[in-house]
Amino acid sequence: MVFDYSSLPREFSRRYLPQDLKFEWGELSRLYGELAGRDLGSLPDLERWLADESELDAYTYEQRTIRYINSTRQTDNPDFTLAYERYTEELEPRLKVAKFGLLQKYAASQFRGSLPRDTYGLEDLRRKSALLIFRPENVELERTESTLAQKYQRTVAAMTVNYRGQERTLQQMSKFYEEPERRVREEAWRMADQRALADRSALDVIYDQMVKLRDEEARNAGFDNFRDYIFVKKDRFDYTPSDCIGFHRAVEEYLVPLSREIDMERRERLGVDTLRPWDLRVDPGGLQPLSPFEDATGLVRGAAKVVDQIDRKLSSYFRRMSELELLDLESRKGKAPGGYQEELTEVKLPFIFMNAAKRDNDVRTLLHECGHSFHTFLMRDEGLPYFNGGANLPLEFAEVASISMEIISGEHYEGTFYDAQDARRSNKEEAVGNVKLFTWVATIDAFQHWVYTHPDHSHEERAKAWVDTFNRFSGIESYEGLESSRAYRWQRQLHLFEVPFYYIEYGIALTGALGIWARYRRDRREAIESYKDALSLGASRSLPELFSAAGLEWDLGPRALNRLADELRSAVRGYS
Ligand SMILES: [Zn+2]
Repeated sequence: MVFDYSSLPREFSRRYLPQDLKFEWGELSRLYGELAGRDLGSLPDLERWLADESELDAYTYEQRTIRYINSTRQTDNPDFTLAYERYTEELEPRLKVAKFGLLQKYAASQFRGSLPRDTYGLEDLRRKSALLIFRPENVELERTESTLAQKYQRTVAAMTVNYRGQERTLQQMSKFYEEPERRVREEAWRMADQRALADRSALDVIYDQMVKLRDEEARNAGFDNFRDYIFVKKDRFDYTPSDCIGFHRAVEEYLVPLSREIDMERRERLGVDTLRPWDLRVDPGGLQPLSPFEDATGLVRGAAKVVDQIDRKLSSYFRRMSELELLDLESRKGKAPGGYQEELTEVKLPFIFMNAAKRDNDVRTLLHECGHSFHTFLMRDEGLPYFNGGANLPLEFAEVASISMEIISGEHYEGTFYDAQDARRSNKEEAVGNVKLFTWVATIDAFQHWVYTHPDHSHEERAKAWVDTFNRFSGIESYEGLESSRAYRWQRQLHLFEVPFYYIEYGIALTGALGIWARYRRDRREAIESYKDALSLGASRSLPELFSAAGLEWDLGPRALNRLADELRSAVRGYS
């Protein structure tokens, strides 16, 4: 199968890059050399230079994305795997060094202070912190880190079990946790769990190496620990580690009790004495899983109807994606697991990838990724300079765009995917899922705070720190006799390995998305207009400003979480 991205409409012509540019270091280094050597004798020169650099960034990032998309659409094509590996192993380290050279040139420019703040203010701040933490010796460490991440991926991908006459990945096994028959769920859960545990030592070693590398990177850059370093590296200008710790406390105080209430209701409805880990995904009323569509065509048709009811402009975006074949939704052999939206940054168009399996969750995933793609389209229409969008989008707000769509779309499932009763059931599952998301975000984030502020820990200390953290935020399910399973549960969370400290963003975004949902239930028009306004600002404003543009409060503390817990509690009850 060949995926052709060259036929996509090119509505933004190149002003700086040659039309026949090839994605090879020889050609790219000439362009970086030209930018590095260019004379910046006036403010317009500097602005022009920034625009040209942006054009080059958009090109290189799009080329990276095309290779990434290809490698996930067809993991069994060695050419695609190799092309993406060649990018991460050979090209990316060189690009980092070349970009650092440009960063230094920017910092030294005498006209930097005269750039209009409205357009360049936040970008200037981002460059300042990138300059502060960049160390050439870290490039090699980061390359080793990404090799380890690939090793983690390979280890997890190779975890398969033979169940009911078929070889299945652990992800594929998870559908059996929805089986009404308890014996089946338990059998499937234990089988998957045993398989994962068989690799626990290998994964422990990979993680040890990663923690050590990351600690070294932080110390090279003059920080005491990796946590404090990553806050700067991730452009977290608007919150601190202690705000995150406050968020954990607020989750513990307001969301954990709600999560346990939900579990108690579940235990009662299932009619079991003790809730076990394999009882958490099944419908508590003993029903078969919801089945909202037959195939990808049905999923797209239903989603189009849902988005039609939300907003006309957003609906035109969705249709455009479908026409341009920017959706790869159906599960098939050789496709990587999971789902994502990636922006093709030069043509400024989104691409959605997922593995639909006829489940309720697939509808939510598609709408989630649609939220990301609306972000891409709205920034495109706004004509923002590239550095105010694309890869610079703050994830804390990018996920507001997506999670909002995931939640509010549920208001329109009746008559599109479900009857009234099933729509209520889907919305209840979503509300419960969001309560659990808050508690899981706090678990993963709090654990990482511990790991990177105790970099010399032993395996035993790490397992203990995990279990303590897990118990602090968990539901009421019992792990009696499954102590090892609980102690190593963290190894299944890929973020811990591949994108350290990327998780609190979901919690922050969830506060915003629930706020948009509450507004949407009061006044649809008004909520969607401010949603679009905020998305069209891209990365040009701070998080509190983006939240405010969407009509939301920027608050991660107990007051906000107490209110959200109340709203979620009444939603869970209302849909019952
Ligand atoms: Zn997302």
